[in-house]
This record gives sequence, structure tokens and C-alpha cells, in this order.
Amino acid sequence: MLVDLHTHTNASDGTLSPDELLSRSREARIDLLSITDHDTVEAYNRIDVAGGSLPHVVAGVEFSSEWRGIGVQVLGLNIDTSSDAIRCATVAQRSARISRAERIAERLERAGVKNALAGTLAVADGGAPGRRHFACYLVEAGIVKDPGQAFKKLLGAGKAGDVKHQWASLEQIIEWIRGGGGTAVLAHPGKYGLTRSKRLRLFDEFQRLGGQGIEVISGRQDPALTQALAAGAAAAGLLAACGSDFHQPGQPWARLGMPLRLPAECRPVWDAW
Ligand code: MN
Ligand code: MN
Repeated sequence: MLVDLHTHTNASDGTLSPDELLSRSREARIDLLSITDHDTVEAYNRIDVAGGSLPHVVAGVEFSSEWRGIGVQVLGLNIDTSSDAIRCATVAQRSARISRAERIAERLERAGVKNALAGTLAVADGGAPGRRHFACYLVEAGIVKDPGQAFKKLLGAGKAGDVKHQWASLEQIIEWIRGGGGTAVLAHPGKYGLTRSKRLRLFDEFQRLGGQGIEVISGRQDPALTQALAAGAAAAGLLAACGSDFHQPGQPWARLGMPLRLPAECRPVWDAW
């Protein structure tokens, strides 16, 4: 069975529309799919997943959060997108993005950039504004040549527009996901730059806060890491998930439909659905 429980569409930072993602998933012969855009379930308003056709789609989302000052992400899988808890969560996460955008804009204006907020909101076109939208606006306004230069001069670490996010706590995110009937899964634990012992501490804390699983495989990854994460999940009593973290075609390390085989000792999240 081919399973991919972590993908993005152009409802967040992917390039494909939800419909294009579904038809490519069909071509790739994926059996079980979740679209997990950042802090939004908008993709599910644009597709019709009823009926028995493959892939079978479970609704999902990828929430940004924070643990001991480190940005971590949590997948909400098999959620009810119309539940009060998920609605509440997406509204709160969106307003966190907007208030950050306001602070970035204020600081850019002080650095001489005019119309930064309105210009960037126009670029984001109703979506949640982020630094890449600011970068586009800065290019559009003729202030920099390309997005790379925007980050180098104005948006990157230590620059005027470098404003930290203030996300909901891990505890709050897990509560929202479970309140929406979903399974809370810590996304790509290998990507936070944690030492092995700190990672295990995160697993334990995640489990104590009500988290149910971890993403044992995220795209192309070192088999040694897969084994370590599988062992860590088992030790903490957590279920296992796998996903490509697909954003766009042409990235072989995050290819839609790539084989993602969980080690035999894992208990897959989907067994309980
Ligand atoms: Mn992520
Ligand atoms: Mn992702």
C-alpha cells in the first residue's frame, strides 16, 4: 500500500492546485493521501473527495508551533475540517501570521520601504502573508532585484524584517487537533537540529501532552535516521506516520508517490482509522 500523509498545495506554499495534486496522486498510484497545508484546510474546500475512487483522502493540516523556543510542526491527520476546534485553530494561526506581517511591515517602513503591508497583502492574495510574500513585494516595488536579494538585505536573519513568529504552544495545538477528532503527529523530527537526547525528550513531552504519533519517514532520508526515529517512537509509545512533504514537481527528495516504507516494528497511524 502506497501511503503519503504529508503534501502541500497552492493553498499554502505548494505549486499545484488541490485538483492537480489529486490527479498526480492517482497517476502515482497512491492509496492513502493527506493534504497537509500550513495552518489552513482551504484545499479541502476546493476538492470533492467523496466516493470510492483512489487515492483515499484523509483530511489533514500542518500546524506551526513552538517547543522550548524551537519552531516545531505538528500534523493533524484524519481531522474534521468543519469542527469548531479546527476552525478555531486555523483562525488563530492566521491571525498570528497577520500580526507578524504587521510587525515586519512596520520595521520595513522604518527602513524606508513604503506601502509594505498593503503591497504584501495584495501579493498574498487572501492567503496568509509570510516573508516570501514580502520578498515578492520588494521585487515588484523595484527595491531589490530578486527574492534572494530581498532576504539578504531586508528579511533574513538579523535584518530589519527579521521578526520571530509567536505560534501557539504544542499543548494548544495538540488540543485543537484532538478536539477536531484528529491524530496529532510530530512532523519530520529529524529536521529541527536536535541532539538525539533532546529529540527523545521532545517525543516524551509530546506524548505526555496528548500527541499520538511521529513522522518516522519524511521524504528521502538516511535509513539510519529512519531506524532511530522508529525506535524512538516505539520507546515513547507513539504511532508512526510517513509522508513525502511534497511541495512541487521536480524535487526528487520530496517526490509525490515515492516509496515510504515504515520499519516493521512501527505501528502505523492509519491502522486505527
Ligand atoms: Mn514542515
Ligand atoms: Mn510540510
